[in-house]
Amino acid sequence: KTIVKTENLVKIYSNSKVKTHALKGVNLEIPEGSFSCIIGPSGHGKSTLLHLIGGLDKPTDGSVFIDGINITELSNSKLAELRAQKIGFVFQFFNLLQNLTALENIEVAMMFKKASQKVQRAKAEELLALVGLSEKANAKPSELSGGQQQRVSIARALANDPDILLMDEPTGNLDSESEEEVLNHIFKIHKTGKTIVIVTHNNELAKKAEILFEVRNGKLSNQ
Ligand code: ADP
Ligand code: ADP
Repeated sequence: KTIVKTENLVKIYSNSKVKTHALKGVNLEIPEGSFSCIIGPSGHGKSTLLHLIGGLDKPTDGSVFIDGINITELSNSKLAELRAQKIGFVFQFFNLLQNLTALENIEVAMMFKKASQKVQRAKAEELLALVGLSEKANAKPSELSGGQQQRVSIARALANDPDILLMDEPTGNLDSESEEEVLNHIFKIHKTGKTIVIVTHNNELAKKAEILFEVRNGKLSNQ
């Protein structure tokens, strides 16, 4: 079954003077449970594509379907709801809240849910254990290494049991040891049945992908 699909996706950024054609008609299909990587030169549209798939931004033209739902037609509130339930996003620079502990950063992602605090805490603890960070539950981001912060942000992305995990250069800011550790967690999470899509410059990682896409000049090709 196809879980992510785009049809003729176009994105034009318009600033006061310049128009940037970041995506020029991208058609892509991603099967449920697969592991995809998106590679390509810097500035050619990879992040834009990932953001549109994740509903973080709206296309200029074309459609994004998540599990058969055309998310480009949803109201902002419906889109926020769908995103929270179906999609987890991991950023290169972690985007953790600096004043909160590792555990609290994960709990914050569950705020929209109606579950009790106790249930949310238990879930956050379970996710921290999954990424091997139980002993850092009460540490603030500044007290964690880059690799540890990225593992917290992966745990946060899983807070609402999304089907799809989208990652924008998750190892781009890590040393090679942390990188390996983070990748091992990502592979483990893939085995639990999640669909994973990663934008990466890491050739070793790209080699392991089941599906490899390249974005070049705003166009997509299958490698
Ligand atoms: P990549 O992820 O491959 O490095 P991006 O998707 O970030 O590429 O960017 C594609 C193009 O769109 C680049 O020319 C970039 O400068 C431009 N771009 C990206 N985001 C914006 C934005 N918010 N406003 C204007 N231009 C943008
Ligand atoms: P990445 O390194 O993940 O490809 P970028 O460095 O291209 O990301 O972009 C980081 C952020 O800056 C994104 O939110 C993107 O939308 C924004 N951005 C990128 N290029 C431009 C631009 N030319 N003008 C305005 N915003 C941009």
